[in-house]
Amino acid sequence: MTTYVWDYLPEYEAERSDILDAVDQVFSSGRLVLAESVRSFENEFATYHGVEHCVGVDNGTNAIKLALQALGIGPGDEVITVSNTAAPTVVAIDATGATPVFVDVRDEDFLMDVTQIESVITSRTRCVLPVHLYGQCVDLEPIRELCDRRGLVLLEDCAQAHGARRNGRLAGTLGEAAAFSFYPTKVLGAYGDGGAVLASSEEADAALRRLRFYGMEKVYYTVQTPAHNSRLDEVQAEILRRKLTRLDSYIAGRRQVARAYAEALADTELVLPRTAPGNDHVYYVYVVRHPRRDEIVERLKDYDIHVNISYPWPIHTMTGFARLGYEKGSLPVTERLAEEIFSLPMYPSLPAGLQDKIITAVREVLATL
Ligand SMILES: *Cc1c(COP(=O)(O)O)cnc(C)c1O
Repeated sequence: MTTYVWDYLPEYEAERSDILDAVDQVFSSGRLVLAESVRSFENEFATYHGVEHCVGVDNGTNAIKLALQALGIGPGDEVITVSNTAAPTVVAIDATGATPVFVDVRDEDFLMDVTQIESVITSRTRCVLPVHLYGQCVDLEPIRELCDRRGLVLLEDCAQAHGARRNGRLAGTLGEAAAFSFYPTKVLGAYGDGGAVLASSEEADAALRRLRFYGMEKVYYTVQTPAHNSRLDEVQAEILRRKLTRLDSYIAGRRQVARAYAEALADTELVLPRTAPGNDHVYYVYVVRHPRRDEIVERLKDYDIHVNISYPWPIHTMTGFARLGYEKGSLPVTERLAEEIFSLPMYPSLPAGLQDKIITAVREVLATL
């Protein structure tokens, strides 16, 4: 049997009756769009985070784009982020007409190097957009302080960090807004697409509700500022409500898988994920590092294990972003990482027997390099 980094079928097997009950509940309700399940999920997701405002949207990319727009960011503005992230972070900035500006990441944990932010601030800078990458938080406290001091807004990309904490505080609760994705692979994943924005103000909440609904103030009312349709689907919202009650146990499962890798691979030459001081990692992905990455990834295929690389192409080197003008070599840590990292299979329902098989294969491949 082929092994991939992620597989939802063991989870579906275990949760099937609850998931199908969620689908039936929505189909039987008589209301299929922006109804009870979306409203309830928004309230419950806000409550989980101890914040007041949550707006469900259709995916994580639009969560970032609409959050930026709700915070007043658009053409001519600059948004500071990282190049070592999923492309949608940067695609979403670009979609608002704003310009992404990159800082490098730290060599030890691959997270945004917050000490570089100040040096790239210009008169056009409006926003800092840290990505809580792979399941752990960026050092948010100094970014918050800097944003307050320089009059910038802070938007957190939480697509990989549901339930992650820094110094006890949940990811998504320190910025003016925070964007989440519920793409199926995520720590809290739907059975299809979904997203949400946490907002810290009434105004941002109202703006988000307009932005996801053609620019209308209320259902079937009139358009204030023309916008698009980015609604969260009722069925996905109901599934997410059920799964939100299990989020903490999914995270516990991921930590258990991470612990087993850490114990079994500690004496190898793989560089294992490091948790920054103060962080509680939720292991969205389990990213390891080795200078002979390409050979290892190839050899694992002999064991029918197909791993992922998150991410093989730094965004500033992509053809689609060549116009941003970043030379090769401009973000050295990001570029080196892209050649050396890969992800081992990670999901809470990963069967222990399968993980043992993966560990044995990795150890054999490393031993014969
Ligand atoms: C998954 C992801 C997104 C995009 O979410 P979608 O729901 O796929 O649009 C954005 N940012 C990061 C860091 C992600 O991992």
